[in-house]
Amino acid sequence: MKAMRLKAPGSPLELTELTLPAPREQELRIAVEACGVCRTDLHVLEGELPDIHCPLTLGHEVVGRVIEAGAAAGRFKAGDRVGVPWLAYTCGVCAYCRSGRENLCRTARFTGYTRDGGYAEELLADARYCLPLPAGPAASLAPLLCAGLIGYRAYRTAGEGANLGLYGFGAAAHIVAQVARAQGRRIFAFTRSGDEAAQRFARTLGAVWAGGSDERPPEPLDAAILFAPVGALVPAALAAVSPGGRVVCAGIHMSDIPAFPYRLLWEERSVCSVANLTRRDGEEFLTLAAALGLECTVERFALTDANRALERLRGGALTGAAVLEMPLRT
Ligand SMILES: [Zn+2]
Ligand SMILES: [Zn+2]
Repeated sequence: MKAMRLKAPGSPLELTELTLPAPREQELRIAVEACGVCRTDLHVLEGELPDIHCPLTLGHEVVGRVIEAGAAAGRFKAGDRVGVPWLAYTCGVCAYCRSGRENLCRTARFTGYTRDGGYAEELLADARYCLPLPAGPAASLAPLLCAGLIGYRAYRTAGEGANLGLYGFGAAAHIVAQVARAQGRRIFAFTRSGDEAAQRFARTLGAVWAGGSDERPPEPLDAAILFAPVGALVPAALAAVSPGGRVVCAGIHMSDIPAFPYRLLWEERSVCSVANLTRRDGEEFLTLAAALGLECTVERFALTDANRALERLRGGALTGAAVLEMPLRT
């Protein structure tokens, strides 16, 4: 089978022919139908995260069909459609795992980072961390598996205030905006300064206001979520939230946060991050996505065009999410 692999951090992905071993006890061998392209993939590719071991196959928003299941793979069998998200394995016994916070497990493994992911025709995944998926075209479901899931965890962390700011209106924000709107929130979308296409896109998804991240919103925000990996947005967002408001950083990597005056944090404003996901997040969010009929706007690429998809993401040229589609198998 073919995979687009990272041979060394900072270099383009290379098309490689591989043979996967048979799945072990808990594993599934999965034929990939589609795999979303996430900003985290860029951080892995650039070597901005620790412990990257090459060669490595990126991709953690995988929609596929089980080809072969290990003897103890439990609830999934050959022919089933599954989603493979970022969280690939946890220890199950540490204090985090035992307290519903497996997203913070110190020995967790991650798809497309510390184990091979879905920029490939096939992958192996631990069945216990795979998710059942709602019906629908694979390419439209793929972005739900990270942009949607991590976006939803950030959305929940932001609290229940009515006015929600989203900084960076890409794959995650375009899904969160739909959830927020369905739940009666008001979305204020911040894009790169002058990015009118992104601002128009945000308005079509129901944002009550869209502008540049250097602008102040017309009303104070109750909370803000930062999807853009830009540390300078932290003080900007703090300046835009009301007393008691929370600023949630949703990315795995961000440029340094500049020094800012204490008065921006004063009055019980707070800054926090969300990391990874739990399996419970996955099940809860995918159920909600099906109930709300969330629709992802996607730009499709062939597997061999993965480098071009990553370039478009890096350049802020995408509307919605980029997805790699594998040819249909017969
Ligand atoms: Zn653990
Ligand atoms: Zn991701």
